[in-house]
Parts: sequence; C-alpha cells; structure tokens
Amino acid sequence: MDCLFCKIVAGEIPSTKVYEDDRILAFRDINPQAPTHILVIPKMHIGGADEVTADNAAVVAHIFATVPQIAKAEGLTDYRVLTNNGADAGQTVRHLHFHILGGRVLGAMG
Ligand code: 5GP
Ligand code: ZN
Repeated sequence: MDCLFCKIVAGEIPSTKVYEDDRILAFRDINPQAPTHILVIPKMHIGGADEVTADNAAVVAHIFATVPQIAKAEGLTDYRVLTNNGADAGQTVRHLHFHILGGRVLGAMG
C-alpha cells in the first residue's frame, strides 16, 4: 500500500522516534505547529478515525494509554491531542494519527 506512515513504520522513510512498542509508534512531526508536536500512530494501517471499529479500537485505547508517558517525557503538563478525519478536516495523511501539541499556549479550536 502506498501509505507514507506505513513506510515510516517499515523504516523506509526516516523519522525521529520518541516512543515505539509492538503496536504503536510516536515520532516528531516534520512541520511542527508547536514547540512539541508529536504524531502517535498505530503500526497497523487504519485510514482514519472513520475506520476505527470494535475490532481495532484496542490499539486506539493503547495509544491513549501511552500519551501521558509520551507527554511526560517531553516535559508537558498541558497539551492537546487531536486527530483530523477527512480532507475538509485537514487530514493530509490517510493513516490514523493523533497529534500531541504542547509547549506554548494553544489557541481555540477552529
Ligand atoms: P494531518 O494533516 O493529516 O492531520 O497530519 C499529517 C501530519 O503529518 C502533518 O502535521 C505533517 O506535517 C506530518 N507529516 C507529513 N509528512 C511527514 C513526514 O514525512 N514525516 C513526518 N515526521 N511528518 C510528516
Ligand atoms: Zn498506513
């Protein structure tokens, strides 16, 4: 499959990893929107939030169970976790990913 984040999981495209285990990977966003901007992804290909099902939701729960330790390792107490689903919402990579943003005062959501 021609998926950028699957290629990052496979190591075909380099990334700056901050956390990895058997099911998920976290790495720094190439175009950071805040002093800390990390992407957390399932290693398995899920296209977006609209492809989360009862069968694959455990990996999403695992991501959320790991976010606090990633944030803590970055020295963050206040941060935003978000995912964009679909082009109109700003999704540019069609592999589920959660942004962790922090390190500055974050504005209101638009
Ligand atoms: P989206 O717009 O889909 O919510 O988020 C995609 C994110 O992936 C963007 O913030 C973008 O900067 C990031 N991104 C795109 N290509 C790469 C890449 O090759 N490496 C890394 N580390 N981040 C990328
Ligand atoms: Zn993928």
